[in-house]
Amino acid sequence: MSESEEKSLLYEGKAKKLYSTDDPNVVLVEYKDSFTAFNGEKRAEMSGKGRLNNLISSAIFEYLAKNGVPVHFIERFDELRQLAARVRIFPLEVVVRNITTGSIVKRLGIAEGMKLPRPLLEFYYKDDALGDPLVTEDHALLFEWADETDLKTIKEITFRVNELLKSLFDSIKIVLVDFKLEFGRDNDGKLLLADEISPDTCRFWDALTGDRLDKDRFRKDLGNVLDAYEEIWRRLSRIGK
Ligand code: UDP
Repeated sequence: MSESEEKSLLYEGKAKKLYSTDDPNVVLVEYKDSFTAFNGEKRAEMSGKGRLNNLISSAIFEYLAKNGVPVHFIERFDELRQLAARVRIFPLEVVVRNITTGSIVKRLGIAEGMKLPRPLLEFYYKDDALGDPLVTEDHALLFEWADETDLKTIKEITFRVNELLKSLFDSIKIVLVDFKLEFGRDNDGKLLLADEISPDTCRFWDALTGDRLDKDRFRKDLGNVLDAYEEIWRRLSRIGK
């Protein structure tokens, strides 16, 4: 695809901009340098963040696609952008937890850093005005955010992604603590893993030191935020070399 084929801005979110292309089934996703947390209350710009998340998310989606996961990702276009299938996103955030931290610790008063005996899968309703509330599968069915077949497929893909990512990050001495996925349906009706997978959407702990290598550095003002993203990219880009 050439520069001139880039078309109009379809959507601007907190971390990405979506452009149409000459192909109605394909969008160009541009990663922004902005950080947001706590439902948009905390914001910052950090030059280089968009590039790192585009590189990291592209590498992860390439790995998942290679392992048979149906993904919207087509290819990385340049340092800031990637091509992806145009999808309609299910209004659900699918969170997997391997270790307790973050909102579950606050909500349920359980200990932080507990290794769970099996991965926990949660659904949140995607609605900024409501602060993305935790919901059950029955809410999703009743309010027609997804049907039974969709939920079954989403759960199967999510657990498979967890296993694949745990193994990938284990190989670079990083613990996959938890992460969030989003799914969509393409113009042919196929259900695909969509959005991004990056230190914005996952919690990564250094296996040796326990250092936080993700957006918690921004959320909790731990400093060296982009150094952490750079470290994730440095380790990922060395795999197989
Ligand atoms: N997460 C995300 N987007 C959201 C909410 C959560 O990417 O809108 C990710 C978050 O980075 C973490 C996981 O989902 O890896 C679980 O987040 P949690 O529910 O603990 O919420 P938080 O503490 O981030 O508010």
